[in-house]
Amino acid sequence: MPEQTLPAGFTFSQSSLQDYSDCPRRFQLRYIEQLKWPAVESEPALENERRQQEGQLFHRLVQQRLIGLPADKLTPLASTLDLRRWWENYLTHPIDDVSGYAQYVEVTLSAPVGTCRLLAKYDLVAVRDGRAVIFDWKTSHKRPRDEWMAARMQTRVYRALLVQAGTHLNGGKPFEPEQVEMVYWYADFPSEPARFPYNAAQHKRDWDGLTGIVNEIANHRVFPLTEDEKKCAYCPYRSYCNRGVAAGTGEELETESAEAQINFEQIAEIEF
Ligand code: SF4
Repeated sequence: MPEQTLPAGFTFSQSSLQDYSDCPRRFQLRYIEQLKWPAVESEPALENERRQQEGQLFHRLVQQRLIGLPADKLTPLASTLDLRRWWENYLTHPIDDVSGYAQYVEVTLSAPVGTCRLLAKYDLVAVRDGRAVIFDWKTSHKRPRDEWMAARMQTRVYRALLVQAGTHLNGGKPFEPEQVEMVYWYADFPSEPARFPYNAAQHKRDWDGLTGIVNEIANHRVFPLTEDEKKCAYCPYRSYCNRGVAAGTGEELETESAEAQINFEQIAEIEF
């Protein structure tokens, strides 16, 4: 087998790091061999495609609202049952009052990590007097446990990268980790956001860990299949790994193993 290495100039994202964490082989197939969607991730396929599109549309609605478009102009665009419910929840359950904050909508940050770069696109970063709140909208139909979200690459990457690369959002000074918080707002559970404060020890742990993983991947030549075969049920690369042909079904899905595996809300990020 020819030696396989990362494409030149490869940029890491929370999605690619999560893929590696879930299954090194999936990382290899998706980012090194660059195979796209060879199998349906879960059944029914059309239903999942619809959910992906609705998630993207919801993000677009919130983005437009945050940059100042009036709610009554946007409401008619919430044209499906799910979208209407999420939009109504968004309008009626303000998470935090950040009206006095500088608001950076869909801002992208990047920084060198190890021998590569790490990049993240944030739904919203609200900044005031050195304090930063990262908001991320989630349209999954199940609410994950907070402990599970705390361990996700997104939670680790977004907070760490804001400290490393967010200086220009804070008047030229790096954010103190203790001044950073990440909030996941679940459109179907609007009164139950998940909050993750931060501190210097966590930042050191995260950044050292991310650097270690990036360097490990950059020097990897072998990408083993995950030993947790439950992850394969929702993976589009099953046929490459002899891990089954039929996709998992919605009924089988458990919160943690499904919503994230299917990556409903990270489709855009896979491009990075
Ligand atoms: S099918 Fe399983 S082993 Fe193969 S890439 Fe997907 S998660 Fe990894």
